[in-house]
Amino acid sequence: MLLKEHQYELSGGVNPLDLVDQYGCPLYVYDTAIMKRQYHQLFNAFSVPKLKLNYACKALTNINVLKYFKSLGSGLDTVSIQEVWMGLKAGFAPEDIIYTPNCVSMEEIGMAVKEGVKINIDNTSILEEFGQAYPEVPICIRINPHIMAGGSSKISVGHIDSKFGISVHQIPLVLRLVKATGLKVEGIHMHTGSDILDAGVFLQGAEILFQVAQEFEDLNYIDFGSGFKVPYKEGGIATDIEDLGEQLSERFNAFSKKYGKELTLMFEPGKFLVSQSGYFFVKVNVVKQTTSTVFAGVDSGLNHLIRPMFYDAYHEIVNVSRTTGKNRIYTVVGYICETDTFGVNRRLTEVQEGDILCFKNAGAYCSTMASNYNSRYRPAEVMVHEGNAHLIRERDNFEDLLKKQVDLNIFEPLKVK
Ligand SMILES: *Cc1c(COP(=O)(O)O)cnc(C)c1O
Repeated sequence: MLLKEHQYELSGGVNPLDLVDQYGCPLYVYDTAIMKRQYHQLFNAFSVPKLKLNYACKALTNINVLKYFKSLGSGLDTVSIQEVWMGLKAGFAPEDIIYTPNCVSMEEIGMAVKEGVKINIDNTSILEEFGQAYPEVPICIRINPHIMAGGSSKISVGHIDSKFGISVHQIPLVLRLVKATGLKVEGIHMHTGSDILDAGVFLQGAEILFQVAQEFEDLNYIDFGSGFKVPYKEGGIATDIEDLGEQLSERFNAFSKKYGKELTLMFEPGKFLVSQSGYFFVKVNVVKQTTSTVFAGVDSGLNHLIRPMFYDAYHEIVNVSRTTGKNRIYTVVGYICETDTFGVNRRLTEVQEGDILCFKNAGAYCSTMASNYNSRYRPAEVMVHEGNAHLIRERDNFEDLLKKQVDLNIFEPLKVK
């Protein structure tokens, strides 16, 4: 979001306050210009003959976002059969969808096989079952390289006791199962967790994956997952994509040559592609001074944006109603009936009740993790594309809250004798 002559604006000159007027508050807004910028930055960072980016759609699952990434040439990374169906509905060809579930049933995997999407196996017992049920379906194997990465324990998925992937130490078992069942392994994969700090960790994982790759004869692709970090605060740490691209491309091309085949380099970024494209607008209901703190209490809470409470995530907050004036220090909290603090001791342009605040980096894992807790409505969502704003999700209404509830209507008033 740019600051222009005392007003914030989105790409194409769209004023967020106009959007809030039109669509109400709280409101998620996504700017496709930023999705495109991120997609191209990542795509252009690698110089390999074959590159495929698969958008990890769990970050932001609105069908218009999926369609937009399809229009950019992206494939899709999915973690549930429902995301597979969403991708097919958005128009992705089955071969452009990779399904990377964890701890799902063989039955669900069978449903994905039926849809013809790429299957990524992350467990040896499933591999054994899969090989007997579908020996003719080529697969990808998710390796756990056991490198520590990730911003917090909740999103670090590569360590030794992680539930994700097949341990790199179990490759002999994998090879035995593949041989015994006649399976064809066309891809190998790793995903070491969100928030990788530097190219070094990635390259360390890559070397392990190259070693594993040599054991398989029929590979078409190597998938390095994701974990690219984007800055959440000004001057915050981000993955140096160009540096990573240069180093990994060189190693990848050398490996392909040695392997004797032009392999496809694949990634499946979520956060990197959509985090910065999203803004979450809320209205200040109350400014409340206690003995030690000035609270700005807003018309939202952990029901709409849980990352600060769940992961201790930092989201920059700005007062978009007032871009000039003196700064004061606030603790920004939600309206949910438990502690839901968005940010402590934040410097905001002096806040008055009714002001609109904006949370930045609200594209990834924000609206997709929203709930109806406290019987609140989930917010409306708007996509700004080429200077126009489009509603892409309606705000919930009261009927939505009751839609799936079954009203028994059997309770008589207790009779008092
Ligand atoms: C969540 C996930 C991703 C995306 O991770 P980001 O940190 O959002 O880029 C990629 N691959 C798999 C298998 C995932 O589960």
